Amino acid sequence: MEFHERTIKVVIDDSKCEQCSTKACVEACKIYDRGILVLKEGKPIMEGTPEELARRGTECLACEYECWFRGNGAISIEVPIKGLQEYREKHGTL
Ligand code: SF4
Repeated sequence: MEFHERTIKVVIDDSKCEQCSTKACVEACKIYDRGILVLKEGKPIMEGTPEELARRGTECLACEYECWFRGNGAISIEVPIKGLQEYREKHGTL
């Protein structure tokens, strides 16, 4: 499952979620974001239309952090940074 907020893309490999005992992503979303991740049938899902997610999401990254430390490492967030590719090419850090 994947969804977009204003500038980021959140990807969740929910095949790892049924075995997750903490569901830490949902708790983190309630505390640090606006509770857009909710639990349904043992897996996190998004509540809202794509437009609502883009408006409500705070891009806090808390779900990814909590999933890696207390869940099953199912979340990765892509954060595009303008000019990063060119910078890395210029400085040989690819
Ligand atoms: S914390 Fe990670 S593994 Fe656990 S339910 Fe959330 S996304 Fe799935």
